[in-house]
Amino acid sequence: MDNRLIWLNGALVPLQNATVNVLSPTAQFGLNVFEGIRCYWSETDRQLYGFRLDEHYKRLLRSMKLLRLDACFTAEDLFTALQAVVKANNYQEDIAVRQTVFVDGFGSWSSKAPVHLFVAPIPKPRLLPASRKGLRACFSTWTRISDRNMSPKIKLGANYMNSRMAQLEAVENGYDTALFLNEQGKVAEGVGSCLCLICNNKLITPPGTASVLESITRDTLLVLAREVLNMEVVVRDIDRTEVYTAEEVFLCGSGVELTALVSVDGYTVGAGEIGTLTTALHDLYLSVVTGEHPQYQHWLTPVY
Ligand code: PMP
Repeated sequence: MDNRLIWLNGALVPLQNATVNVLSPTAQFGLNVFEGIRCYWSETDRQLYGFRLDEHYKRLLRSMKLLRLDACFTAEDLFTALQAVVKANNYQEDIAVRQTVFVDGFGSWSSKAPVHLFVAPIPKPRLLPASRKGLRACFSTWTRISDRNMSPKIKLGANYMNSRMAQLEAVENGYDTALFLNEQGKVAEGVGSCLCLICNNKLITPPGTASVLESITRDTLLVLAREVLNMEVVVRDIDRTEVYTAEEVFLCGSGVELTALVSVDGYTVGAGEIGTLTTALHDLYLSVVTGEHPQYQHWLTPVY
């Protein structure tokens, strides 16, 4: 960990030298937009595959545009930086890559420059069946931020303070994690992931307009459920009580992959264990991200 290299503004620097100004807008106001990208190691192919990089970079560029930051990087620049830093660290294992565009230098929350980039990979193994654990969640007393104030579509550092309020409150009250309702009182998402329900073999998830981040994992699972598992997929508003009575409930995201919820507000979900369709979808997801599924190779970018 200590001799890990970070890509910072075109240079590969040791972690301890990858620093920002304490008075920078990123340090003081959370003025940074970022992506959490997973790359999975395939022992069969002896290759590291970046998952759906195009979608991650499109979302990062959208986040920059919405914050009126200059489009000073292309998707190609972003991939070149990721590839350089992963190669420099010679990772041959599953990793998570934090790729962050931030406003550095002296400035305020309204500063537009200088716009800098860092790319920080860390080892993060996939969630193997034996280590999967269902979580006990609650609905937060806090409401999800909305497109009327701080758009949850922007993957902005400062937005995570809404997540922080909910997560710390949940833990204080004895839960593992929190779920958010939006301003309309409908189900939004988790603190760092989207939410899916399984009811009568249907996969149901809130729409992009429900105060959620447009999740790449959620999009992937909608495709896989439909095309491979022949499940009906439904994108619609969800009421809170539907979560209590769903057969299976799980969080999804690049970081959490699929993480089952075994209870919500004390209501046991299904049989109180990780559900069979959640497990099937998770196993399928892992086969896709590691290059074992021929149909979805177009989602993978070899890093080496
Ligand atoms: N919502 C929030 C608030 C998140 O932080 C994340 C993680 N990036 C997600 C949803 C899931 O998005 P993705 O599947 O693109 O990682």
